[in-house]
Amino acid sequence: MVLTTTIPDPRASEMLHYTYASRYARAPVPKFKMPENSIPKEAAYQIINDELMLDGTPRLNLASFVTTWMEPECEQLMMASMNKNYVDMDEYPVTTELQNRCVNMIAHLFNAPIGEAETAVGVGTVGSSEAIMLAGLAFKRKWQAKRKSEGKPYDKPNIVTGANVQVVMNPVKAVEMVDENTICVAAILGSTLTGEFENVKLLHELLTKKNKETGWDTPIHVDAASGGFIAPFLYPDLEWDFRLPLVKSINVSGHKYGLVYPGVGWVVWRTQEDLPEELVFHINYLGSDQPTFTLNFSKGSSQIIAQYYQLIRLGFEGYKNIMENCMANARVLKEGIEKMGRFDIVSKDVGVPLVAFSLKDSSKHTVFEISDSLRRFGWIVPAYTMAPDAQHIAVLRIVVREDFSRSLAERLVADIDRVVKELDTLPSRESTKAAHITAIDEETQSADGGGEMHVKKRVKETKEVIAHWRRFVEGRKAGVC
Ligand SMILES: *Cc1c(COP(=O)(O)O)cnc(C)c1O
Repeated sequence: MVLTTTIPDPRASEMLHYTYASRYARAPVPKFKMPENSIPKEAAYQIINDELMLDGTPRLNLASFVTTWMEPECEQLMMASMNKNYVDMDEYPVTTELQNRCVNMIAHLFNAPIGEAETAVGVGTVGSSEAIMLAGLAFKRKWQAKRKSEGKPYDKPNIVTGANVQVVMNPVKAVEMVDENTICVAAILGSTLTGEFENVKLLHELLTKKNKETGWDTPIHVDAASGGFIAPFLYPDLEWDFRLPLVKSINVSGHKYGLVYPGVGWVVWRTQEDLPEELVFHINYLGSDQPTFTLNFSKGSSQIIAQYYQLIRLGFEGYKNIMENCMANARVLKEGIEKMGRFDIVSKDVGVPLVAFSLKDSSKHTVFEISDSLRRFGWIVPAYTMAPDAQHIAVLRIVVREDFSRSLAERLVADIDRVVKELDTLPSRESTKAAHITAIDEETQSADGGGEMHVKKRVKETKEVIAHWRRFVEGRKAGVC
């Protein structure tokens, strides 16, 4: 708690009920320097709350995999633990215990080779990004130790992965690229753009063969950020996890299909052996030794507690039902979009529940215009260009989450249809360009007064269209993920 003495603002009592009649409604909001004086708590609340109204509505944000709805009982648990620092494990042993239970449940879900009563090896993180870094660090340390012991250089480690998160890896090419400095091959279960699962099983077969030929023991990491809570429930026979011996670590985002508000992620290792001891930090905090292995130190406990809530509240049955609902709603969306006859579906039927689609004909209008127009109804549907080798393809992507119901799916289909038909009636990008050139031509050629007026008007219209385009491009640059 910060203890300060502030002299009460004589206007404070007036502020309690009449924020909008006060000077705070007119004064500029502090943006760069901390303001000199305090303001009443009601005014601070009002100012911030008002500004936040202009944010998008999270539940209509179809750009994101991240959870936007939880049960009130779980929110209650989260609020009650807001002031609990996760790292104070000695003081909050129950919270630490709950995180260990989550690790165990997730490791079992991913078929880690552990006995019923054994403790799995893993840790809660802020998200998959931190989890992936920890996994990478473990591979690097293991590889370095081995190279050192063999008297070989260990200064040029590499990781083989798809060109970026949006491209699905070709396992044959990936394995060809593996060399003695490869610390791991990283496969993605649930590509960000298309939701597709990379073929971990085939990768595993090819890599096992290469390891045999070369005498190396290159391992696999699976980035299951979005797919880790999908595949076990919807595709239990798909072998992508610890059933494959070379898979040594897996990360998953608890805040994606783990169904917890951000930020929580998990990384689990196959066995204790796969996590080098040097990576484990021993915290001697208030008299007790507590091993931990995260990149940061302090953080909240709420998300860990919420993850445990979801795991025991829903159980396998509940997660399976929710994922099936998401898939069914993704199908409704996909079929509705296909029926319009204007789009090609880019996403796959097996994978993360999302629909990615591109325009068959973008000479009249683009997916960026569609995305822009959908905003009017409150929908946030991002448009992207694909990864470097397919950059000519621009797609719209809709992620289906637990709280995206069938009625919303049907509404969205209707709104997309409406937007596309509306755009048909507007001048296309190409004809706008042509109009601009014609207008300039006419302006230079015009001699009589009436003609000039006509030209000026056309120039103005063209400028407006261009300004509209510019806003759009700027919005696009801001990016969505
Ligand atoms: C979302 C995502 C990440 C990043 O995960 P965070 O939990 O947001 O840190 C990494 N890899 C893939 C494939 C993802 O989908």
